[in-house]
Amino acid sequence: MARYRESYCRQCRGEGMKLFLKGDRCFTEKCAFERRQYAPGQHGQNRRKLSDYGTQLREKQRAKHIYGVLERQFRLYFEMADRMKGITGDNLLLLLERRLDNMVYRMGFARSRNQARQLVRHGHFAVNGHRVNIPSYLVRQGDTVAVSEKSRKVPAIAESIEAVDRRGVPEWLMLDKEKFQGKVMAYPSREQLTMPIQEHLIVELYSK
Ligand code: SF4
Repeated sequence: MARYRESYCRQCRGEGMKLFLKGDRCFTEKCAFERRQYAPGQHGQNRRKLSDYGTQLREKQRAKHIYGVLERQFRLYFEMADRMKGITGDNLLLLLERRLDNMVYRMGFARSRNQARQLVRHGHFAVNGHRVNIPSYLVRQGDTVAVSEKSRKVPAIAESIEAVDRRGVPEWLMLDKEKFQGKVMAYPSREQLTMPIQEHLIVELYSK
């Protein structure tokens, strides 16, 4: 399956902001962006002022990096969002949030979306009792996401659940740590999504 090959920290430095792609490390002094707040490469310290188009493009790239989605699929999300009722930008973010790998991360079963994606691919989760190993699977309101019985001792999952009280779970989700299970109580409102994404710039880019 296609995925980003560039190092996660290089992606943050390229975007000029922390994207929190490496879980707990992002909150420590080992964070590469804390130490070198400029783009990687020979000319990384000579940032140019971006055109409107460049700003829109950067915003799209940032969203893709945060959710770990490649161009083709991102474009499909935009087209779906455009066909849905409501504000296209809000719809786009909601679709990204509904991805199973994101839900696994948000519920606290993984320390980053990248780790969540790998765990989902390895078949450690079930949605409404059925095993799902597709990271892009769109979870619905009212669905339950559970760690399979035999996967509860997987170190990455066990350690993430240990740390969940410190990290917290969004109010629109419910986690039952004892049952290794989470539920989507409601879809999040735009205000509940605090990702540093200006989705209107992405809509402007794709609407050209
Ligand atoms: Fe980005 Fe995390 Fe690497 Fe820091 S540690 S640069 S936030 S991926």
